[in-house]
Amino acid sequence: MRALVLVRPERIELQQRDVPTLGPGEVLLKVEATTLCGTDLRIISGAKTAGVRAGVVLGHEIAGRIAAVGEGVENYQVGQQATPSIVLSCNRCRVCLLGYEHLCEHLQLIGYEIDGGLADYCLIPARAVAQGNLITTRSEVKPTHLALAEPLSCCLNGLNQYGVNAGDVVAILGAGPIGLLHLQLAQASGASQVIVSNRSVSRREPAAALGALAVGPDEVGHAVADATGGLGADVVVVCIGEPALATTALELARPGGRVNYFAGFPKGSTAEVDVNLVHYKELTVTGGSNARRRDVQAAVRLLESGALNADAVVTHTFGLDQAEAAYDAVRDRLGVKIAVTP
Ligand SMILES: [Zn+2]
Ligand SMILES: [Zn+2]
Repeated sequence: MRALVLVRPERIELQQRDVPTLGPGEVLLKVEATTLCGTDLRIISGAKTAGVRAGVVLGHEIAGRIAAVGEGVENYQVGQQATPSIVLSCNRCRVCLLGYEHLCEHLQLIGYEIDGGLADYCLIPARAVAQGNLITTRSEVKPTHLALAEPLSCCLNGLNQYGVNAGDVVAILGAGPIGLLHLQLAQASGASQVIVSNRSVSRREPAAALGALAVGPDEVGHAVADATGGLGADVVVVCIGEPALATTALELARPGGRVNYFAGFPKGSTAEVDVNLVHYKELTVTGGSNARRRDVQAAVRLLESGALNADAVVTHTFGLDQAEAAYDAVRDRLGVKIAVTP
């Protein structure tokens, strides 16, 4: 089979590999689509090395169909459409026992350490199968849409922390794929208005088409003030890892409001923030990293329901043979999100 392999930082290669042989408890997925993520670029460039194995098959936003099930596998049948929760947690460390399996002290990720979805087939390890990491669909979902279950699950983990109540005004900093998913989750949660900011005019267009007020970074303060009579946004979600936005977000929030630093910031970066904004406005500040299995399940249900416009997010598709060109296109910011289909 073909597989896009991270040979070492700054070197990826489409290789021929044997189709994985199926051991007891394992499931073999025939990959139908894998969407590419900004984190992949950081892995390829070497900016992200933690939990990444040289020689790994890249791709962690995976939609497939069960091609074979190993001995002893119950609850899964050949032919079922499925997507994996990529977080393999140990379920016994202190963090897992506290209910944060997605922050497990021993976590391993598919597409980082365990072979991922940029291949014709993807083997789901027995441990993942036994823990219910493989989520099947109840009704068919377009594969390029089902691949969004992973990023969407991460956004749902964020949403569960910041919360959107009916009528809320929500400000989202960043109109990339993640910003567009938070936008749609806010709308689905009953936000009265969503304001999305992005420097690039072309990136603002899809947000506007989805019904957001899309503005440049210099206009977002005025837009939020206009929408809230000067009070500030109920919720601010930071979807760009730019340290300067840390304070902007605190400024945009209303008294008693919620701020979520959803994007990861560059390793080692620090930001100077006016901590009195948190103190005097009694802000609730949260983060977001990875997702629990239950978030992936909720993401699949949402994608099945058709409540989200996935076509607004997945705008381009490349063949697996063009996977390297697809990453170049991500680097060049082609469209919103790019899918690779075998
Ligand atoms: Zn990702
Ligand atoms: Zn653990």
